[in-house]
Amino acid sequence: MEWLKTHRNDAILIAALLLAGGALLLWLGLTRQAGGFAQVRIDGETVLELPLNEDAEFVLGEGEHTNTLVIKSGAAQVIAADCPDQVCVRQGAVRYNGESIVCLPHKLIVSIEGGGSNGVDGSTG
Ligand SMILES: [Zn+2]
Repeated sequence: MEWLKTHRNDAILIAALLLAGGALLLWLGLTRQAGGFAQVRIDGETVLELPLNEDAEFVLGEGEHTNTLVIKSGAAQVIAADCPDQVCVRQGAVRYNGESIVCLPHKLIVSIEGGGSNGVDGSTG
């Protein structure tokens, strides 16, 4: 019965390692997800910082240069703009650290800062 004892100890050790690894990953995921926000810059100047965990809608710019930015379900997206190329609208939603939406005609940059980089949906609604 000696072999059984040895194997059981191995199994317990592996299970413990898996649990510890899983907890660490979960912790990293939660802490990285928290604090994610969309930084809005117009002409190089930061005008807004919007937390991704709060749904919101903003009309950025003024006069004939506007972009409608929506924060929804942890992602930022320009849903409407009156720029000629509509590149910012076509870029779709961004949610991960380092992603950005750029509207060159309006000198607008929306970049995600401090968000998670994995597929974990940490949105608290
Ligand atoms: Zn645009």
